[in-house]
Amino acid sequence: MIWYPYTQMKTMTEPIDIIGAEGIYLYTKDKKLIDTTTSWWSVIHGYNHPEINDALKKQVDKFSHVMLGGLTHGPVKALSEKLVELLPEDLNHCFYSDSGSVGVEVALKMAVQYFFNQGQAEKKSFVALKYAYHGDTFKTMAVGDDEDYHLAFPEKEGIYHISTNANELKSLLEAKHQEIAAFIVEPLLQGAGGMRMYDIDFLEKARQICDDYNVLFIFDEVATGFGRTGHMFVSDLVCPDIIVLGKALTAGYIGHAVTIASDQVFNGFYSDQPEHAFMHGPTFMGNPLACAVALKSIEIFQREDYLSKIKWIESTLKATFKDFSSDKVKEVRILGACLCIEVYDPCDLKGFKDFALEHGIHSRPFIKYMYGMFPYIIEEEELLRVCNVYKQWFEEGDHKLY
Ligand SMILES: *Cc1c(COP(=O)(O)O)cnc(C)c1O
Repeated sequence: MIWYPYTQMKTMTEPIDIIGAEGIYLYTKDKKLIDTTTSWWSVIHGYNHPEINDALKKQVDKFSHVMLGGLTHGPVKALSEKLVELLPEDLNHCFYSDSGSVGVEVALKMAVQYFFNQGQAEKKSFVALKYAYHGDTFKTMAVGDDEDYHLAFPEKEGIYHISTNANELKSLLEAKHQEIAAFIVEPLLQGAGGMRMYDIDFLEKARQICDDYNVLFIFDEVATGFGRTGHMFVSDLVCPDIIVLGKALTAGYIGHAVTIASDQVFNGFYSDQPEHAFMHGPTFMGNPLACAVALKSIEIFQREDYLSKIKWIESTLKATFKDFSSDKVKEVRILGACLCIEVYDPCDLKGFKDFALEHGIHSRPFIKYMYGMFPYIIEEEELLRVCNVYKQWFEEGDHKLY
């Protein structure tokens, strides 16, 4: 049997059986559902996209995989070139892995060894944000700050959590910079920790403070990369030393991630000493199918001018929720193609999933957060339908039926 994620198997309700998926819709035996989760925020072009399907099939017919150990291939070279062209000037060195968590592990390892290679082995601690989520492997759990996910794994040695306050960061680095390798953030939008949004101003100040104290700045853009916040990358606004991309990188087709380092970080490994090399290498890194999909995904993103679509989604959401209020709702947050309605009491979302299903919508609220991470191809009528169902849940009041 299947052991499902983030779920008490004893009380789990039957998962929804999907028999087809096309565009923004999921199909069950008898229902057609708008998907507001984009399957953990990855399916930005919708499901079953003909052009991406084609790109994948073409690559399958050539070859599906070769390792990057001693071998290389066209798709990984083309994708690296494309990413370097898209990203700010300094971010030029692409290291691939098979998931976002591993991509973040790679970034953390790079930061520690960058200093180790310079004889500063004591710089191995990390600063992260409160409510951070960076993945489910051990070190990513440690830099994370979310006991709802990681209650049984409280190990936080050598990790400092701060709020999005520049003075707090400055005092901490002033006191501890000799032991700190990097400051890691989900820039502008903290996803799994509750779709928390903060201002670019903090990142601008943090960039300067990290420079002042010789601490690397890592952007975990696994969730925010490829347009989610309304910017292609938040790194376009403030440039980190290392960026991690995942989720939408491969448009929901195949798990993959890439950790991209600046020239400065890369040069910390580039030497005549073999032991300065970066010793990491996931079996499926740079998988040709994943690379072919990513290349096609980026091509469509640019050709279809998704950034304007995302701007439109954001302004439509803002207009729709402008006059919305409910005594159960603490806050409505909107940024790019992300909507979050936070309630005071998690009980007030109980039953919402079934309510949404009855109204033709697949939604997966968690804890106090009802959210939509919309596919960028969603149309006006569909977006408004989702918003109306979300509002209706609060307006109808009594949900004992569900
Ligand atoms: C999802 C996520 C990860 C982990 O990615 P996986 O592919 O699930 O391992 C890491 N960081 C952020 C910000 C994420 O949203």
